[in-house]
Amino acid sequence: MTPRRSFLKQSSALALIPLVPITSFESLAATKVPLDDPAAKALRYVEDANLAKRADKMGVAAADQLCSNCRFYVTDDANAAWAPCQLFQNRLVAGPGWCAGWVPKS
Ligand code: SF4
Repeated sequence: MTPRRSFLKQSSALALIPLVPITSFESLAATKVPLDDPAAKALRYVEDANLAKRADKMGVAAADQLCSNCRFYVTDDANAAWAPCQLFQNRLVAGPGWCAGWVPKS
């Protein structure tokens, strides 16, 4: 798949994420993202990145892409098993997980 086609496919998947009012972020924050969540399914979220079909992205090898080194994984603890993900309304995702929205930390 060409990088442009891949980008367009991932962008359309991101568009499927439901918009959640800001007021409901707090109640969602402490919950884990269910694997059957529509947004999780659209972005192919998994709790174990080894189960995902990944491709090299932004100069990072597929095998090196994990939630724990993603820009949207919000924690100061590099060894955190679970942490909020900004892409999933700050609900918890697994550190060794992955989804198609992965972007390297800058
Ligand atoms: S956006 Fe990043 S931290 Fe969130 S689920 Fe996807 S890979 Fe994990």
